[in-house]
Amino acid sequence: MAYNYRTIIEKAYQMANSMEDEGKLATYIPELANVDPSKFGVHMTKVNGDNFGMGDHLERFSIQSIAKVLSLTLAYKILGEEIWKRIDVEPSGTKFDSLLLLETNNGIPRNPFVNSGAIVICDILISHLDDAREEFLAFVRKLSDLPELNYSDKIADSEKMYGYRNVALCNFIKSFGNIENEPAVVLDFYFDMCSLEMNCQELSYTISFLANNGYKLSNNEVIVSSSQSKRINALMLTCGFYDESGEFAFKVGLPGKSGVGGGIVALYPNNYAIAVWSPKLNPHGNSFKGMKLLEEVTTHSEMSIF
Ligand code: GLN
Repeated sequence: MAYNYRTIIEKAYQMANSMEDEGKLATYIPELANVDPSKFGVHMTKVNGDNFGMGDHLERFSIQSIAKVLSLTLAYKILGEEIWKRIDVEPSGTKFDSLLLLETNNGIPRNPFVNSGAIVICDILISHLDDAREEFLAFVRKLSDLPELNYSDKIADSEKMYGYRNVALCNFIKSFGNIENEPAVVLDFYFDMCSLEMNCQELSYTISFLANNGYKLSNNEVIVSSSQSKRINALMLTCGFYDESGEFAFKVGLPGKSGVGGGIVALYPNNYAIAVWSPKLNPHGNSFKGMKLLEEVTTHSEMSIF
């Protein structure tokens, strides 16, 4: 269907911006509490190369759990279907840092996007790569065409200082035998991975291979097979927003992933990837305004996967 995506984004941005923001900044990572809560940006990258952004779309922010899509992509490339022996593909219905289901599931995380699952992915990368920290960064630099991209020590150190729940998760999973490496090593990598910073333009471009059947936009390089791309999208749709994944599918209707830095990415296969950033989070840990904006975009463009 033909639609004017610029007009739709402008309208959605204005509508979401005029709402009272009921969200709250994430404060459990002290550095995230220092971000200006009024920031609001959006950028769409279409698979035909067109792109358009508004507001604070060129300002970098902490992508946090959005990086879990990229770490899953790299681990899935390396391990193939073997990976699902270590992590399940079911929605958790719990908060992102919950320990609850690990006990009954014998240390197998429900999916790769809750913290427990992303920690197991970090363990897998450490076991299979010579230097997971450097090789993951090189992978994201390649996906994003940003050769200067780096981890933020400031954010990683800030999270590490208070990351008690993640320490608990990693040790708990280790007790079931589903972590191979030393928990301290796995957690260091996990905190680094979550500390990457990008702006909405960079993020929508980085994730666009998942809207393009696994091919990188700029040179058609195969990042993952189309079947793997489809499966990562299925996981984003069912698990990308933790205990609010149903609500996101219901209201927005796209595969997506959020982070506690206030970023959200979403994509419409064969058409576009979009990234939005507004730091204040709803009680589920997802950007309040970001969710509203995306709901407006898919409602007015009448373009969701349903
Ligand atoms: N680094 C964050 C944490 O582990 C990521 C959580 C998120 O973005 N939902 O708590």
